[in-house]
Amino acid sequence: MIQRVCILGSTGSIGVSTLDVLARHPERFEVVALTAHSRVDDLFAQCVQWRPRFAAVANAEQASLLQRRLRDAKCGTEVLVGAQALCELAAHPEVDSVMAAIVGAAGLAPCLAAARAGKRLLLANKEALVVGGELFMQAVREGGGDLLPIDSEHSAIFQCLPTDRAAWPAHIDHILLTASGGPFRTRDPSTLHAVTPDEAVAHPNWVMGRKISVDSATMMNKALEVIEARWLFDLQPEQVRVLIHPQSIVHSMVVCRDNSVLAQMGTPDMRVPIAFGLSFPHRIESGASQLDFTSLGKLSFEAPDFSRYPGLQLAWDTLRATAGSTTVLNAANEIGVAAFLNGAIGFDRIHTVNAETLSSLRIGADEARSIDGLIALDQRSRVQAASIAKRFAR
Ligand code: NAD
Ligand code: MG
Repeated sequence: MIQRVCILGSTGSIGVSTLDVLARHPERFEVVALTAHSRVDDLFAQCVQWRPRFAAVANAEQASLLQRRLRDAKCGTEVLVGAQALCELAAHPEVDSVMAAIVGAAGLAPCLAAARAGKRLLLANKEALVVGGELFMQAVREGGGDLLPIDSEHSAIFQCLPTDRAAWPAHIDHILLTASGGPFRTRDPSTLHAVTPDEAVAHPNWVMGRKISVDSATMMNKALEVIEARWLFDLQPEQVRVLIHPQSIVHSMVVCRDNSVLAQMGTPDMRVPIAFGLSFPHRIESGASQLDFTSLGKLSFEAPDFSRYPGLQLAWDTLRATAGSTTVLNAANEIGVAAFLNGAIGFDRIHTVNAETLSSLRIGADEARSIDGLIALDQRSRVQAASIAKRFAR
């Protein structure tokens, strides 16, 4: 049977890699909907190539321009507009699988729409789960669909676990999320304030969007992944541990109750977890090159240095703090990273913004009990983080 796919954020790094995998299997997949935020030219080209039934963009002006261009190109794609359109497409009856490849908390509402509609949800958008937490997982359970991790570490863990989720608690002692350590693993920490956005986004092993690249440099990406893993695999915070592995070959490991360790390996290429998510429980060709063990050289592992990456500790701190704290952390980090990328604050101030937002914002008792409450908390945290970032503007 043909699997009908909607890609939310099709013009980004994960979106483009997803289309690359789909192009290898035209007999298995049909692209029904593509969405983009600002790169409308890229979306136009994707629509002409893939002829999806629907496309969606952020604002009305862009939408009518895109619709006109598509009509001129004799492409019958219908263009929708705005955040609500993303939710409609994610839950559309003609869609079987939703690739959630939007960056940031903006992806939460369409992820929830897909989950509630019982779709196969392929989750790259880790921020959505960090913001939604338990309520996100509840929506997946109630919707009765599948949630498949696309983040390479979480896909690795998933691939090392039995398919029967009920067996996981008895199986797992703890998990080890690997981290490359990013571009500044060996840089003198006293020089980090002078890092430029271009230096921060130059990841040693992976080619990714700008926000996640900065998160990899601060290791906030790993902090978000610790929180993501806590929810995906229903673990206690102390069951999620982090290990620096600069080569990015072992994508993560499960330490079982009997102390057997299962690892998933491969070249650092997101098409592997994407292909796995699309084809689970089967395997399809991904386009990634094979590992050549004879030329790999040394694989090394070390404990993370928390003084170099102070943001990493915030994962466990927020998981143990008042419910909603992970929502605050994610929002502050989105503001801090955007301010750094705009040149407004120094690289080392991203952590200051995160830590000060967490310590100064009081979370209301009811805020974490509903998705609407969490979305309001996310908004409040952004305002707070922005005013803190302003204090540290250079
Ligand atoms: P990207 O910046 O390359 O792409 C983001 C996509 O989301 C674009 O298509 C953009 O148009 C869309 N978008 C941005 N803001 C939006 C908004 N407010 N509303 C609607 N759409 C919006 O990012 P990416 O690197 O592809 O990452 C996407 C997600 O996948 C992130 O959550 C990231 O953490 C996660 N992820 C990425 C990688 C990777 O290798 N790139 C690996 C693991 C996880
Ligand atoms: Mg990852």
